[in-house]
Amino acid sequence: MNKHRLMSPGPTPVPEKVLLRMADTMIHHRTPQFQAVLKDVNIKIKKVFQTENPVLIFASSGSGAMETSVVNLLSKGDKALVIRGGKFGERFSEICKVYGVETVDYDVTWGESADIETLEKLLKDNPGIKVVYSTLCETSTGVVNNIEAIAKIVADTKAVLVVDAISGLTADELKTDEWGVDVTICGSQKGLMLPPGLAFLSISPKAQKLVEASDLPKYYFDLKAALKSYKKDDTPWTPAVSLIMGLNLVLDMMLKEGMGNIIKRHARLADLTRSAVKAMGLEIFAKTPSNAVTSVKVPEGVDGSALVKKMRDEQGITVAGGQGNFKGKIFRIAHLGYMDVYDTISAISGIEIVLKELGYNVKLGSGVAKIETLLT
Ligand SMILES: *Cc1c(COP(=O)(O)O)cnc(C)c1O
Repeated sequence: MNKHRLMSPGPTPVPEKVLLRMADTMIHHRTPQFQAVLKDVNIKIKKVFQTENPVLIFASSGSGAMETSVVNLLSKGDKALVIRGGKFGERFSEICKVYGVETVDYDVTWGESADIETLEKLLKDNPGIKVVYSTLCETSTGVVNNIEAIAKIVADTKAVLVVDAISGLTADELKTDEWGVDVTICGSQKGLMLPPGLAFLSISPKAQKLVEASDLPKYYFDLKAALKSYKKDDTPWTPAVSLIMGLNLVLDMMLKEGMGNIIKRHARLADLTRSAVKAMGLEIFAKTPSNAVTSVKVPEGVDGSALVKKMRDEQGITVAGGQGNFKGKIFRIAHLGYMDVYDTISAISGIEIVLKELGYNVKLGSGVAKIETLLT
């Protein structure tokens, strides 16, 4: 028997008391009882998003909010600029194309973050860009983008900035209002310590103007309907009641710890993970690594897919493999949400054992010893 340890960048572990809260008796959503919960949630979640703007909640995975941001902000024939440094950046382009939105794709080499001067030039060369899409943490590569700098550049144009912070929120700093991010997107199953099933989208007054003008087809993900209900602490459709009950508790836990402390905790675990990986003689893939996930190059001669499989099936530890062209070439260890230093130590220990079994000459204990040294 192995205990199951979830160390992937989503889904992430859910605290036991949150699981119990979600197992509580079902209540009807059109009741004062549920509306009181939603009202509470609507106030508290703004602190996590660091915004005074509405944060809308959808019963979908994170990609639902990504699609929402396309079909509600843009119109047919509009142009959007998409920063694509991995699988999730690419998703915005794919959604735009489905709806007939033209995209200017800024292809960033996987493992690197968006270059600010290149972005500035692209925006100059392509006037009339209505929306700029970026990820905070590009989960497929473990890179964090410099959203503060990107927002400054976008602020000089008429465009609105949409940030996919599905994995980055709570791990990497994101000052939505202070930096001038118009739309921040998140999902429940990453830093927010919940099961999959909720998507979030905060929206600035500037972005709300685009919603008024948008002519793309939508029904379920209609922001006009969502904003109208939001004003009454309601939702247009049946919300994911149990998940929102869990969210209410998660938000209490997060606000008690404080956003600054949460980000510091992620930064510390990320730093310990990177130090351990380097002590094992391995190389970090991301040039500007995120606090949410550490991407590691699979060493020469080692089968990266076998590593992930052995970790899961023999050690009981789920880490993530590479995606796209980097399948088998990198693996990713999360330090995201409900995780602490002993989760990290477990993952590093498991990696040492599996690497040894796969024929890589790792000094057993080197990664774990590094963490212990840094902790004392
Ligand atoms: C996980 C993730 C997504 C996709 O979210 P789903 O919940 O799977 O729809 C999108 N973007 C980023 C950066 C992610 O980490």
